[in-house]
Amino acid sequence: MSSSGGIQIPSRLPLLLTHEGVLLPGSTTRFSVDSARNMQLVKSRLLKGTSLKSTMIGVIPNTKDPEHDSDELPSLHSIGTAGLAVQVVGSNWPKPHYTLLITGLCRFRVSHLLRERPFPVAMVEQLDRLEQYTEGGQLDGELGELSQRFYQAAVQLVGMLDMSVPVVAKLRRLLDSLPRETLPDVLASMIRTSNLEKLQVLDAVDLEERFKKTLPMLTRQIEGLKLLQKTRKLRPDDDKRVLAMRKGGVFPGRQFSLEEDAEDEDGDDMAMLERKVKEAGMPEPALRVCLKELKRLKKMPQSMPEYALTRNYLELMVELPWSKSTTDCLDIRAARVLLDNDHYALEKLKRRVLEYLAVRQLKSALKGPILCFVGPPGVGKTSVGRSIARTLGREFHRIALGGVCDQSDIRGHRRTYVGSMPGRIINGLKMVGVNNPVFLLDEVDKLGKSLQGDPAAALLEVLDPEQNHSFTDHYLNVAFDLSQVLFIATANTTATIPPALLDRMEVLQVPGYTQEEKVEIAHRHLIPHQLEQHGLTPQQLQIPQDTTQEIISKYTREAGVRSLERKIGAICRAVAVKVAEGHKLSRTDSSSEPGADQEQEGKAEDSDMTAPPEMPIVIDQVALKDILGPQIFEMEVSERLTLPGVAIGLAWTPLGGEIMFVEASRMEGEGQLTLTGQLGDVMKESAHLAITWLRSNAKTYQLTNIAGCADPLEGNDIHLHFPAGAVTKDGPSAGVTIVTCLASLFSGRLVRSDVAMTGEITLRGLVLPVGGIKDKVLAAHRAGLKRIILPKRNEKDLEEIPSHIRAELDFVTASTLDEVLNAAFDGGFPAATVTHSQIASKL
Ligand code: ADP
Repeated sequence: MSSSGGIQIPSRLPLLLTHEGVLLPGSTTRFSVDSARNMQLVKSRLLKGTSLKSTMIGVIPNTKDPEHDSDELPSLHSIGTAGLAVQVVGSNWPKPHYTLLITGLCRFRVSHLLRERPFPVAMVEQLDRLEQYTEGGQLDGELGELSQRFYQAAVQLVGMLDMSVPVVAKLRRLLDSLPRETLPDVLASMIRTSNLEKLQVLDAVDLEERFKKTLPMLTRQIEGLKLLQKTRKLRPDDDKRVLAMRKGGVFPGRQFSLEEDAEDEDGDDMAMLERKVKEAGMPEPALRVCLKELKRLKKMPQSMPEYALTRNYLELMVELPWSKSTTDCLDIRAARVLLDNDHYALEKLKRRVLEYLAVRQLKSALKGPILCFVGPPGVGKTSVGRSIARTLGREFHRIALGGVCDQSDIRGHRRTYVGSMPGRIINGLKMVGVNNPVFLLDEVDKLGKSLQGDPAAALLEVLDPEQNHSFTDHYLNVAFDLSQVLFIATANTTATIPPALLDRMEVLQVPGYTQEEKVEIAHRHLIPHQLEQHGLTPQQLQIPQDTTQEIISKYTREAGVRSLERKIGAICRAVAVKVAEGHKLSRTDSSSEPGADQEQEGKAEDSDMTAPPEMPIVIDQVALKDILGPQIFEMEVSERLTLPGVAIGLAWTPLGGEIMFVEASRMEGEGQLTLTGQLGDVMKESAHLAITWLRSNAKTYQLTNIAGCADPLEGNDIHLHFPAGAVTKDGPSAGVTIVTCLASLFSGRLVRSDVAMTGEITLRGLVLPVGGIKDKVLAAHRAGLKRIILPKRNEKDLEEIPSHIRAELDFVTASTLDEVLNAAFDGGFPAATVTHSQIASKL
């Protein structure tokens, strides 16, 4: 084609052997490949490369040897077409294969094979030198005359087709703009020709010969079409337009089929669809609907929009796995090993999952509760779901529900809408191709609600074992049995899961990881996985434990390991570039300790030159800073606690535990309380409670206003602020922190800088239990705090905390505010030995 006029193909090409079609220059053809060699080629050339050159491949027809997957390379056809893969789609069903869309550029001849494995690569010689003809667009002499005849025939052929069809109209336009010498290839690939004929066209390297070979094929098509039009005249009821379209095969991807009797072909097509309908193993009602639709379809002209609708519907129906399923291969011991291999820690979750699976094994038709994993992002919820599918030998499919607010997302649109389609459940079934997959309903807590109906209600029907054997998608309009599907849900918090839905599920909490657990996970799973993803080996890149610790504490602040994984990915990318360039990132001896001192690092560049290339790149602190930039999170705790009126609370968020600073200040005024930091009502009430309690106990605790008067509020305004200001906060658990913060303000004493607290308060000064203790404690530990004050009645929750962390922390359990204040201030509260003058001097 004209665009390939200037194309010079590389002299070495990887070869794709196709056994089901012939690619001609100037045409775009779809190939499905599944042989080991072709798959290798796709994987290592097309999926990795991004440059034009790397997606260019040589397509060699392999029509002689259908045994394309044998170990021996079949004898190669000597001429092929260099092509660009413009689309690559992979699928695992029914077996692993890729579908490639390849545009042919020009012919080449195989000079000799360079290698056969893992896929053949050959030295090639480009055959079509298109440039010499394209100038002026005219050919001379006999060739010119031949090409003119060919052009006229092509115009005649196209003229017989229906111009209102876009493909035909486009072809008509192309005929004038394409260089004449490309016409034989282009037309030969469009009209109905056998593979053998196409092969002859491919082999006709000489242009004149090519014209001579293709012209008869073209005239044959024209004659065939003429004959058809005659027959059509005998049946005047048939719409001319429709006929032309059918004969023309105008649907993209379908070839022109002018030669054969189109009625026959159409009949074939219908017969095939009918056969598929009958073989799909549908239940009786669905089969009846399909046969009815099929009958309608046969009577419908193809030009009707409804034709495509009905056809799509039927095609979906035959693709659905009505009776296809995989056999469960459950072995509890193997499952335990697999779960352990895939996931570090998570003991409680793994135990419960195994129990669940064991019950399943004993009682094959399990109508048990649906498991719902609840925890912060990146703690492995999805990944455990995937492992469950693997242990059962089932297909896995994830359905993201975040932001879904229209029930037709779940249940599909009625077919009367233009662009209607089935919902995600049916779509998922079509994708996995079996009726007993594991469906992971991701983020059920983020389901929305809108005027288009409540998706949660639709989901209820999906999950309810009493109803889901006859789930009706609006698009299908017949029931599909979902009872074999294993549903697992995930969520960040149970608070926003619709109660009716929550009721159907068994909630398994997945708390965040400790620093040590994260290090282990990184070294056992994340690093090996990322190395593999980036094509690196442990011989090329090593990340010592110290570095991992550093990434965790200085570059991430999260309960899970997702951003840790991303950071490791970033390191791998940086190293991959270095490895590809053959350089070293920083100076490292095999003997040198990770985290070698700075001075040595200063010489890094010199040693780059001499370091043997096969030595691993070890990521130490300097390299880490180079790659990830300056540290993101600093330990800010001690800096912020240098003034009275600041205390550290512990908050629970769907993303895990967090430490939270509460700040207070006062100024002259009229006793107003101002609260900022996007607080919910409950939190505001806690603040009022705290002030009231402190005022009523001002004497006992020697609290004063600025002027030293015994009512802290008299003549003063108080401002309480909860950073970060942009995040909405609510809940009662900040009560004790607010009291402590205000007590510090009113007494002028600093709160201990290593203490964090949580607990609800009452007006009478009691401390009530709160939730999320494990996450909160882990957050405090992450932040390097030492003493944690929590409600007495939460003492039992401490058992969940790993013992080594417990050992590093000092827990104070309190049932009254008095105990809280005593633990929060050095020397107790009020300080027994501190006098007023000492307080004043501190201020
Ligand atoms: P979630 O679904 O909870 O948001 P994912 O399952 O997507 O999290 O986990 C994020 C990444 O962290 C995945 O690559 C997963 O394999 C890894 N991961 C999380 N927890 C563990 C663990 N305990 N052991 C091994 N890898 C883990």
